[in-house]
Amino acid sequence: MIRADQHSDPRSARRLLLPYCASLLVVVGLLPLEERVDLAEVSAALVLMIVAGAGLTAAALGQERRGTTLASLLSVLGAIMLLRDGVGASAGFGPLIFLPVMWAALERRRTELVLVLIGVAAIYFVPILVSSGPQYPSTGWRGGTLMLVVATTAGFAVLALVEHLRAAGERSATILASMSEGFALTRDGEIIQINPALSTITGFSQERLLGARAPFPFWPAESVERNAKLLADVVAAGGGAFDMILVRADGTHFPAVISCVPTDLGDGSRSFLNTVRDVTELRAHEAAQRHHAERLANIADVIREIGHCDPLDARPAICRTALALTDGAHAVSLWEDGHDGGMATTATRPETTAPYRIGPSQVQHGARVVMETGQPLLVSDAADSPHCDRRIIELLGAKSVLFHPIADSSGIRGALAISWPERRDAIDDGDLMMIGVLAGEAALAMQRADLLGRLDELTRTDELTGLPNRRAWDELLTHELAVAERHGKPLAVAMLDLDHFKIYNDKHGHLAGDRLLRAAAAAWGSSLRATDVLARWGGEEFTLLLPGCDATGAAVLIERLRGSLPDAVTFSAGVVCSDGRDHPRALMDSADRALYQAKDEGRDRVVTVV
Ligand code: GH3
Ligand code: MG
Ligand code: MG
Repeated sequence: MIRADQHSDPRSARRLLLPYCASLLVVVGLLPLEERVDLAEVSAALVLMIVAGAGLTAAALGQERRGTTLASLLSVLGAIMLLRDGVGASAGFGPLIFLPVMWAALERRRTELVLVLIGVAAIYFVPILVSSGPQYPSTGWRGGTLMLVVATTAGFAVLALVEHLRAAGERSATILASMSEGFALTRDGEIIQINPALSTITGFSQERLLGARAPFPFWPAESVERNAKLLADVVAAGGGAFDMILVRADGTHFPAVISCVPTDLGDGSRSFLNTVRDVTELRAHEAAQRHHAERLANIADVIREIGHCDPLDARPAICRTALALTDGAHAVSLWEDGHDGGMATTATRPETTAPYRIGPSQVQHGARVVMETGQPLLVSDAADSPHCDRRIIELLGAKSVLFHPIADSSGIRGALAISWPERRDAIDDGDLMMIGVLAGEAALAMQRADLLGRLDELTRTDELTGLPNRRAWDELLTHELAVAERHGKPLAVAMLDLDHFKIYNDKHGHLAGDRLLRAAAAAWGSSLRATDVLARWGGEEFTLLLPGCDATGAAVLIERLRGSLPDAVTFSAGVVCSDGRDHPRALMDSADRALYQAKDEGRDRVVTVV
């Protein structure tokens, strides 16, 4: 590294040495061999020149001792002085003084330059002052002064120029050294200059990189051919930027962007300024961006899928999307409050034959905890955690479980349990955000599904008695006929009508009539099996659906219902039996006809169509 207080490096001195010594040799060639020449002085001058040449050669080879250069330069001046004296002042050796002046200037040796200029002054003026005879007339003063002025001007001008160039060079070097990108200057394919960052990035030492040619040390062995071709293309195209996988000295690979800009070094070579940028972080950032965009697209899908699905499918859809969205998850279940104070799953993926349940005492279970806190809970070690039910965890084969609340403005509706077959110690913010969005959508979808469910129940329930209404009856009958047909079992259908209800109303009032209808519904309903259906057909007419029951069995059952009505109210009934292949409407018409017959025959009886 070049330090600012250092005068020069041996390389610049070496470049200066040859022309310098050549000039001194020319002097020897130009020496006139006349009688007036003082051979002793000329010989001494030659010795001094040899001494100077040796000193400067030592400096050029980097073996300079303190003062060698100054002594050498002053030796040259001494030689010039001797030559001028020995050969004659007018022999034309004067301009030789520029050799030491230029050396000192080019080598940025300010002190030496000043001393050399003093020496120059001495060469010209000391003889004048000493002899001041006819040998040194006024032209001597003039010539010496001119020579000194020109040498001083030229010397300091060159020194300033060299310092300027050096400062510019140092600035460039500082910039290169401070660059975080790697830099390499190549000449005809050889790296001739690099900055420290290139070593830092690649892990190869400066010595290893300087002078390297393709295949460069940072090219992975497996892609040497490909990289060589790429490089040839870039050189042919006169530069460019390209992506390349490089290898560090420790063998690790990394993505880099290399940019090659052609430059002119003024020597006719094909040179490029190359920057090498380690883009590991950039690529990771780009991958994260892509992942983020995918997440956003997934969120849009979630909103679409859950928002637009059939309300009855909302809960399975929530589990389905949660499973699809969460990386590596293998099961998802949706937990909601159960009737017994515990909790149960209302949907699971993969589907289970029966819901999972936790009892009211399992207050530490994750689903219960997030219902209470409203905060997600990650259980990394599910098998040993009080937040998980060991039996369920074993069934699922789960290692970690994330419980996430499903909340809307009205409160927390449930909890989503997402489980992984591998241990998860953390959920990244992006995934958590996505599950949060899913949970928000899930809450809305569940709310909508529940509202629609309740609405549907209302439209299928008779308000007065709480029994299924005619609409619900039609659906149930169609369904049960199909079941009966499939199972090859009989199905009895009865139509019941209160006798003289109009009179009852007239006598006891309409409200009492209503009470009687409710009492009939309650009394009859309580005498039936769970699979039997009692519905209000309309007015004071009821229908009865008895799966697996033949006509005789139905008649017996209906006889049992007789007498369960208050105020000695009676009813008539028409009963039909089906193997499931009848049309519902035809079956109801038959029952209606049988009922009509029962009324016709005097009421308070059952007529069975066989
Ligand atoms: P029948 O023995 O021939 O069946 O005679 P009925 O009076 O029971 O039959 P009808 O069809 O003449 O009259 C039915 C009555 O049931 C008329 C109506 O006021 C009464 N009714 C129908 N729906 C309701 C109801 O929701 N509440 C009350 N209190 N009465 C009702
Ligand atoms: Mg009637
Ligand atoms: Mg009636």
